[in-house]
Amino acid sequence: MSRLLVSACLLGNPVRYDGQAKTIAHAALEALVAAGRVITFCPEVSGGLPTPRPAAEIVGGDGVAVLDGTASVRTADGMDVSRYFIVGAEHALAQCVEHGIRVAILTEKSPSCGSSRIYDGSHQHKTVSGAGVTAALLRRHGIDVFSQHQIDAALRRLESCSSTASPR
Ligand code: SF4
Repeated sequence: MSRLLVSACLLGNPVRYDGQAKTIAHAALEALVAAGRVITFCPEVSGGLPTPRPAAEIVGGDGVAVLDGTASVRTADGMDVSRYFIVGAEHALAQCVEHGIRVAILTEKSPSCGSSRIYDGSHQHKTVSGAGVTAALLRRHGIDVFSQHQIDAALRRLESCSSTASPR
């Protein structure tokens, strides 16, 4: 059966930059977790960043631009942490390939996991349209990325997927 990649913080893991989780409650998703159909993953931790860690935002573009080398992920004091985010995205993609995953539910507004909005790089709590680095890389390889506000749509997409399909 098809599996799903889900941001670790959404499933209660305290892996966010501030050491907190961002737990969601959704009965159908919890049933998939219980059935072993969910791969829980945090790109930033997998990429080598500690928890807690300095907040970071994409400066000069979105996740696509970070992958293309025309934008960067930076902490509020200007440290370029892009390579951790790119490595984490590559690890997320590797998980998808390994498990034949075609659908992901990732945390909105994160510089890694955001799928339609991200912070604007000013560290002033302002958001703009765009995807984070992991969401951008997964989409580049044909994986459908949804946010925690679109779980029903994500689960419909999941059930329409072939369990044997592999990411492009
Ligand atoms: Fe959650 Fe993604 Fe941030 Fe990890 S990188 S804490 S999974 S939003």
